[in-house]
Amino acid sequence: PIRVRFAPSPTGMFHVGGARSALFNWVMARQSQGTLVLRIEDTDASRNKPEWTEGIIRALAWLGIDSGEYEGPYFQSQNIEEHHKALHTLLEQGRAYYCDCTREDVTARTGDPNKGYDGHCRDRGLGPGEGRAVRFRTPDEGQTVVVDLIRGKPTFENRVLEDFVIARSNGTVPFLLANVVDDITQRITHVVRGEEHLSNTPKQQLLWEALGHRPPVWAHVPVIVNEKRQKLSKRRDKVALEDYQAEGYLPEAMRNYLMLLGWAPSGDREVVPWEVIEREFRIEDVNASPAFFDVKKLRAINGDYIRALSVEEFIDACRPFLEKAPFKVDMDVFARLAELAQTRVAVLSEIIPMVDFAFLDEPVFDEQSWNKAMKDPAAQILAAAEDAYRDAPWQADELKTRLEQVGATFGLKLGKAQAPVRVAVTGRTVGLPLFESLEVLGREATLTRIAAARA
Ligand code: GLU
Repeated sequence: PIRVRFAPSPTGMFHVGGARSALFNWVMARQSQGTLVLRIEDTDASRNKPEWTEGIIRALAWLGIDSGEYEGPYFQSQNIEEHHKALHTLLEQGRAYYCDCTREDVTARTGDPNKGYDGHCRDRGLGPGEGRAVRFRTPDEGQTVVVDLIRGKPTFENRVLEDFVIARSNGTVPFLLANVVDDITQRITHVVRGEEHLSNTPKQQLLWEALGHRPPVWAHVPVIVNEKRQKLSKRRDKVALEDYQAEGYLPEAMRNYLMLLGWAPSGDREVVPWEVIEREFRIEDVNASPAFFDVKKLRAINGDYIRALSVEEFIDACRPFLEKAPFKVDMDVFARLAELAQTRVAVLSEIIPMVDFAFLDEPVFDEQSWNKAMKDPAAQILAAAEDAYRDAPWQADELKTRLEQVGATFGLKLGKAQAPVRVAVTGRTVGLPLFESLEVLGREATLTRIAAARA
């Protein structure tokens, strides 16, 4: 059975790209009764924070990858002894050597700061010492052929691979080697990770071989880009999974959508039950070209998932948003609005401006809505509506009929006639179906608000 891993560095908020890689690995493990290993690559002490690690673990659980779904978490910082053992093995075998060149030395010789290491110390036979790094001796000839389930067989000429650093002059072991040693320790068979690592792969594969192990099968999943075809970045784009959660995306919708970044299920569909995704997903079918993170599509999918909830589930899902609202929510009143709202929100946070009118003493007026709706003959319509509603049976149908009649006396269709009433009562020109809203709000509040708007 396969052993895959998700190996994030806890250097920031958990990113949608990381989430997608985690999901691909998870699905692969589950499909073959294999194992998903979670490894926190925390050796860069200056950039790591325990909160980030907690955030990753929490976000994974939110997506469904809870602690029962993986082995670990392992921490890279706990395997440092193995990293050093591997380093010494490579030194003893002559596959690595000490080097005391500074970057300036190298640039002075090559004349180009972007050029790789020139091999100056390869055969100087330096021993350990202050200020000395260790470099891996890459082969001068031949090719390194990587077996990649998404990209075929990317092939690298060994002579263009520089002798790269596997121990810094301060003694720490950098990513390239630490990551390989951890994968070897954890008996990883398939490395599924972001495309940005593809240039590391030939170097890492050489390390696997030099350490006496058969390299894993690789799969480099495509980069994720925004609508301008730029790589998603935390400066430009909303990338933190937590932000999507806070906005009211459902985890089921989120993971469904993330699986579509580079892959498509059978048929022309996007909303797919998780069982189907698990049955159909094949890493070999993932497309190598950049995947567009289409927030509109994500919203649409989320709306579909919201509509598929039972009303009770929807009410429960809304609770955390209602608890944070700047008004006190009577849940019995909310329950009466919930069904109307459920079909109209794409993300759960939208529930708040939709129902606030029912809980606030006065609606929040937005100026644009007000100016748009309160044009002539709005004041007369409001006066007529107030009269018509004073003794109306308090039911949506009846309220609608009465306002239709009011509109007719001004030669207006219902749509036009109801605009000032809607703004008077809810503060906005768009929202839940008006007459059901009035029914829930009740006669007294409705009449008070209409009168207030008229004044
Ligand atoms: N810690 C690395 C990263 O977050 C892991 C790369 C890998 O999966 O090998 O990019």
